[in-house]
Amino acid sequence: MKEGTMDKLIWEFKDINEAKECFKEWKEILELGYWIIKIQIVPPEDMQLEGSGESEYQITNKCAIIRLLEPHHYGDRIVKQCHEETLVHELLHCKFGIVDMETEKSISCHLLIEEMARALIKAKYGTPLEEFDNITYEEDNHE
Ligand SMILES: [Zn+2]
Repeated sequence: MKEGTMDKLIWEFKDINEAKECFKEWKEILELGYWIIKIQIVPPEDMQLEGSGESEYQITNKCAIIRLLEPHHYGDRIVKQCHEETLVHELLHCKFGIVDMETEKSISCHLLIEEMARALIKAKYGTPLEEFDNITYEEDNHE
């Protein structure tokens, strides 16, 4: 692996600099070199949609803002929050927007993008899908 390459999946970016570093790498991998993208880690009130991430982009200017949800607002969900995976997901939305923005906003495209983001994460780090679930049965066990 080349120097400076991250070798572990980042579940939570500790600050915006770590997010920017990670973004630089994925920008290379996904060939988004000409894009100007700002990453933000924000509370839910600063997001337009409900979810763990969102992107607002302009294809003609190749620019985007990607917002990732602050971890302490994520709450208890059966899918773990993963900043890096969400970042890859949002970058893929930018990429797919080039094809057709209407299609890109459809639920099937979003699902396909989610699968591809996980596949890319798996290819890079070998992270199995099961690592993304947050299921515990401890609270169901009242012995
Ligand atoms: Zn999506």
